[in-house]
Amino acid sequence: MDSMTFVLFGATGDLAKRKIFPALYNLFLDEKLAPNFSIVGSGRSPMEQEEFSEYVEQSLKTFSRREDNDSRMKEFLSFIRYMAVDVTQKDEYAQLLDLVTSREKELNLPENRLFYLSVAPQFFDVIASNIQQSGLGSTKGWKRLIIEKPFGHDLPSARELNAKLSKSFEEEEIYRIDHYLGKPMVQNLEAIEFANPILQALWNKRHIANVQITASEIVGVEERAGYYDNSGAIRDMIQNHMLQMMMLTAMHIPEKVSANGIREEKKKVMEALRPLNPENINTDVIRGQYSSGEIKGEKVIGYIDEPGIERTSKNDTFIAARLWVDNEMWEGVPFYLRTGKRMTEKSTRIVIEFKDPLRGVYKDEAGNALPNLLTIEINPNAGVSLQLNSKNLLNEGKVEPINVMFYSNEENVPEAYELLIHDALLGDPTFFAHWNEVELAWKWVQPILDAFEADTAPLHHYKAGSMGPEASDKLLAENGFKWW
Ligand code: NAD
Repeated sequence: MDSMTFVLFGATGDLAKRKIFPALYNLFLDEKLAPNFSIVGSGRSPMEQEEFSEYVEQSLKTFSRREDNDSRMKEFLSFIRYMAVDVTQKDEYAQLLDLVTSREKELNLPENRLFYLSVAPQFFDVIASNIQQSGLGSTKGWKRLIIEKPFGHDLPSARELNAKLSKSFEEEEIYRIDHYLGKPMVQNLEAIEFANPILQALWNKRHIANVQITASEIVGVEERAGYYDNSGAIRDMIQNHMLQMMMLTAMHIPEKVSANGIREEKKKVMEALRPLNPENINTDVIRGQYSSGEIKGEKVIGYIDEPGIERTSKNDTFIAARLWVDNEMWEGVPFYLRTGKRMTEKSTRIVIEFKDPLRGVYKDEAGNALPNLLTIEINPNAGVSLQLNSKNLLNEGKVEPINVMFYSNEENVPEAYELLIHDALLGDPTFFAHWNEVELAWKWVQPILDAFEADTAPLHHYKAGSMGPEASDKLLAENGFKWW
């Protein structure tokens, strides 16, 4: 691991407090940072160094997965400095550069600098440009930029942002965070598909009937009304996280299992994705919004009654979609995505339903077919299970599904932000979104945004506490399937 300076913009924000500082601290405790490094935090508010150190200490005590260790914590805090900078003011970067270089000299660090933009997206381009113009980006070592989501609001704004960033950073230097790509089971997908010859042999249209990716939440809009009402499930979940999980599930084995190999294969999946048009949007995409209901015995209000939401809002709090990957490997296999708020359970999972060549010779008592299912559970549990069929001798020898399961119950596994920051420090972009993927994802989503904007797509209401509107079940029933 190279010695470096970690420059954090937005160091007094919510994400820095809950995720970024604890991630850096845990990497430090695990000796995954170089012995010598510097962290420079900046935010809008003026703060004395001591006050900032106490603030970070509090964040570590509250949010770090590791137990308190006073002396190690003091040592970690000694590497951190704070400076208030208004990121929109070009002149203020000179003093930040002074602080960064003086710490580099003091700690005898090479000029390797990682800039993390944990600020509102309207600042992404201005900060990147000011880093370059101020000289902060003119390093003798490497420079990298980690950028938070959202990357654009639609296809034109994402392209515009990328064009601006690429004036100051090369594509190889830009690490676009998609924290789902940091979740251990998502990082494990490639191994499940490719390191198991028996699954690898089955991973195609001959044996797989359909793929279902679900990310359901129990919570409603919470305090994020302003953001969420302008973004909806389509921008908040589908364009990034859901399509990323779909790409990883549908990709071919790369010739070389490397960052470039994997990203190239993911891009090919997106290129093969059947585009949406005004006709298939209404048959293949379901827009939903929660109305009042009950979750775990508790009554909850509907979306339009939430504080900060206009009663006329048609925002999507739920999306289900049917996708077709028109290539050799997946022709004719539907991929279903489903995500929403105020649903029955909190769960992120990928279910692969295998074909049943015996066409239901074996059925359960209710006469339903018993397909083999491979379930990859991502959140809140991490694990894999395979549903097979077996005779139950205690029940008159009837055939019943059994599950072969592996659940990772190891405590204290590294969090997504830890894994991702570590990769970025190593210069490994495998689990970051390449511009090609982001652009192709926006391209696929754009007709949906247009249809929602023009209000030509129906809005289906669903009861809070359910698994979404009926139309979402019909989407699968049309092909003879159901959600698992
Ligand atoms: P926040 O509002 O809590 O913090 C924003 C930070 O930006 C603060 O440190 C503030 O001082 C700084 N800032 C604002 N205006 C500034 C200016 N003119 N000059 C200098 N600094 C300025 O935001 P957050 O929730 O921490 O989110 C940060 C980024 O992370 C956003 O892009 C957000 O979309 C993304 N994100 C956040 C979360 C989360 O859970 N909080 C999750 C995923 C992505």
